[in-house]
Amino acid sequence: MLDADFFRRWMTVTAASVDREAQRLTALDSPIGDADHGSNLQRGFAAVRAALEKEPPATPGAVLIQSGRLLISTVGGASGPLYGTLLRRTGKALGDAAEIDERRLAEALRAGVDAVMQLGGATAGDKTMIDALLPAVDALGDSFAAARTAAEEGAVATTPLRARKGRASYLGERSMGHQDPGATSAALLIAALADVAAE
Ligand code: ADP
Ligand code: MG
Ligand code: MG
Repeated sequence: MLDADFFRRWMTVTAASVDREAQRLTALDSPIGDADHGSNLQRGFAAVRAALEKEPPATPGAVLIQSGRLLISTVGGASGPLYGTLLRRTGKALGDAAEIDERRLAEALRAGVDAVMQLGGATAGDKTMIDALLPAVDALGDSFAAARTAAEEGAVATTPLRARKGRASYLGERSMGHQDPGATSAALLIAALADVAAE
């Protein structure tokens, strides 16, 4: 069973991973964006980590809802509201249970990804974070490791795509041949989940 501590670990391991990969995320956002994805997420997850240390919420749902709110209020970019919605909606779906099983997490995360698709209007193949998140949620029924692989493969598979949502879509065909930064960071989020599950 997964408790609040598991979800706090997920957020802090994600924060550390975003710190390590910030330059790479920003570099990916350079040819097809405005070169701020790494710094956007670094700011957001630093705030998440600080809040979790100061006043750790007591339930899995509360951890994700608080983290999502903080991303929305601190990340000045498209990814803030989108990741914020992902975590908030997932947290809401977890309710106020103190412990949840893996199946319930998979269902909640699917609700979170659905909410991101509704907010941003992106679907599979639009060259966004959805291209890593959807395959990850599909694979989460099998295992955390399978979700991690699916997210990483989904991120890599955005490279040849033409962006249909977000800033990269302004480039039209010139967005092709570049891996999407948001799909790449989404794979980091899922990899952190798999890492914490393997601890
Ligand atoms: P901004 O484009 O405002 O600078 P970021 O650079 O932080 O924001 O994030 C860009 C990422 O956000 C993209 O790589 C893409 O994955 C994701 N994104 C942008 N628009 C959407 C959308 N409508 N739906 C889903 N993801 C999106
Ligand atoms: Mg950007
Ligand atoms: Mg920006």
